[in-house]
Amino acid sequence: MFAFRKEKKKFPSEYLLGQIDERMDKVGCPICYLTEKSVYDYIDSLFYENVNDPIERAEFMKGHGYCSRHLKMIETHLSTHPQLGTLGVNILYHDLLDYLESAFEDGIKVGDGCKLCKVEKSAQHRYIELFSEYISTPDRMNKYANSISMVCLRHTKILKTLKGFDPTEFWKIQKEKLHKLSHYINEFTRKSDYRYSNELISMEEGQAWKSLSKFLE
Ligand SMILES: [Zn+2]
Ligand SMILES: [Zn+2]
Repeated sequence: MFAFRKEKKKFPSEYLLGQIDERMDKVGCPICYLTEKSVYDYIDSLFYENVNDPIERAEFMKGHGYCSRHLKMIETHLSTHPQLGTLGVNILYHDLLDYLESAFEDGIKVGDGCKLCKVEKSAQHRYIELFSEYISTPDRMNKYANSISMVCLRHTKILKTLKGFDPTEFWKIQKEKLHKLSHYINEFTRKSDYRYSNELISMEEGQAWKSLSKFLE
């Protein structure tokens, strides 16, 4: 008879759970925010110290550069972090120009194997798992339910089918959050009428439109 060793479940550290916790008082999806932050952190370390790393440069070339969405992120990051300078980007683009010139005649592919897409995909996977762990205790689930934070539609769908996660309670909370948004937007519209202009618009009512935009982003 075989003896099966039960796989030991790894629990995320308090530090990691704290990253989700910090997003509870912020509008928007914690998974989207943390995933995007991982990509920006990667871009930051790339241009801060890794741009001369041969493996990094080989991966950049293997992916034929970066896709257009991530090129825009690089541009944003470099313009808001002038201390990084533009030498790094010139080094990478020099490699890319060599490729473009040689590939000009036989079909140019740009960014079809973007390394930053891969970084983003694996960060997203990590944060979806982390969020599912975060709401695995009733007190944290409750905290999420009562917060202004809201997991976006895309990540709600992924969580619904996540292996090993029972989405029943989470799904209920998401529906309640949408219901609350609808109430806040109604109230905002009502109070914008001069007949009720003496009633104060709450913070939740004022930013409900933004929460809905972020939910659908
Ligand atoms: Zn999201
Ligand atoms: Zn990309």
